[in-house]
Amino acid sequence: MEKVLIVEDSKVFARILIRKIEDELFFDTCWASNFEEARYLIEENPDNHNYFVALLDLHLPDAADGRIVDYVIDRGIPSIVFTGDVQSEVRDRIWSKKVVDYVSKESPDSLDYLCSLVRRISLNKFIHVLVVDDSSTVRRHLMRLLEAHEFIVHEADTGDRAIDVLTRHPEIRVVITDYFMPGMDGVELTRRIRRGHRKDELAVIGISAYGNTILSARFIKNGANDFLNKPFSSEEFYCRVTQNLEMLEYIQKLRETSIRDPLTGLYNRRHFFDAAKILHGQLCRGETPMTLAMIDIDHFKKVNDTYGHGVGDEVLKHVAQGLSNRFRGHDVVARLGGEEFCVLARGLAGEQAMDVFNDLRNSIERSKAKAGKALVGVTISLGICDKPHASVDAMLAAADAALYKAKRTGRNRVLWAE
Ligand code: GH3
Ligand code: MG
Ligand code: MG
Repeated sequence: MEKVLIVEDSKVFARILIRKIEDELFFDTCWASNFEEARYLIEENPDNHNYFVALLDLHLPDAADGRIVDYVIDRGIPSIVFTGDVQSEVRDRIWSKKVVDYVSKESPDSLDYLCSLVRRISLNKFIHVLVVDDSSTVRRHLMRLLEAHEFIVHEADTGDRAIDVLTRHPEIRVVITDYFMPGMDGVELTRRIRRGHRKDELAVIGISAYGNTILSARFIKNGANDFLNKPFSSEEFYCRVTQNLEMLEYIQKLRETSIRDPLTGLYNRRHFFDAAKILHGQLCRGETPMTLAMIDIDHFKKVNDTYGHGVGDEVLKHVAQGLSNRFRGHDVVARLGGEEFCVLARGLAGEQAMDVFNDLRNSIERSKAKAGKALVGVTISLGICDKPHASVDAMLAAADAALYKAKRTGRNRVLWAE
């Protein structure tokens, strides 16, 4: 179990921190009130925990002068320092220790900032960043800063090698590139990257040469998301990287919500038609077989009438879950509206498709939706079509006709389209 380690001698402040992190971020915490307890929790590890981040008070009764920070960082735990005093020399000393960041105890907003940092650290270990610089010293420095924030870091010493790394690691989300490099410069690299990667999917941050502020504009005009003017502080570096990542995540979230049905989390009608068109093209070119299924809950109105709309919603979620459990990532499972769903399953046709959808029908019939104290069972009827009609609409119409027939002939059954 991954936990947040809190080392803080003030019981009151520790309580506030614990409540905030557990209630808002849902992470478990472990609290030590002094250096010795922290040492025990880390070295003896009585409950076998991993600490993915530590929040450290700079001043502890048994460890003066931030000794706790060196100790925890040496054990490989990313550390956020909080302190009452943030005068510049204290700040410089904190930064020299390769901390994640420092947070002032004084302002109430700082707790929100602290939470956003903890969340960031928990996410960063899945995020790939590429550092491009011909100077190995600068590269090492930037990589070390990124690693202190738990990013997965890649490196390249030329533009050509950067393109190569990007091709091999399409999961890279941020590229940080120097300007002056032998061969391809940073602006040209940015231009090349933009041929294959959109600005809202991959962030490029250009680093301008000393004293050359014109370069920042050139970076942006050629597709960079942001830039850093040399010299920059660690603090500014982290702010830029984080801000750009948050922008990507925000756009991704917006995109996700625009294609999902809010009640069930399945794709919505609009996305279904977009995705179905692409799959239908592959079907027509003979690249991959597929089956389209129209699915409708039987007598759903009765569920609403008997138990109320709230329970009806739970039943819809339950059926949606049953559908998404059964199909793989490249299939499209959507709620077309009301209690009507549609599945486009790739690589599936004929008898095999009949088996899969019959199995699905069976599992829905056997399972029950939990809604408060009520356990509600429903059945579904399905019309399926695996023939490459001229369009998605034509396949849907055929499957819908089969569904209608399934309803008329008793419900809780799967019928082929004519
Ligand atoms: P059939 O077996 O013929 O499909 O009968 P049915 O009762 O399932 O079909 P009908 O189309 O008559 O009723 C569908 C009901 O679904 C009516 C509508 O109020 C309800 N419904 C549609 N959307 C939602 C929703 O989001 N939540 C809930 N709880 N009910 C919904
Ligand atoms: Mg129905
Ligand atoms: Mg209906």
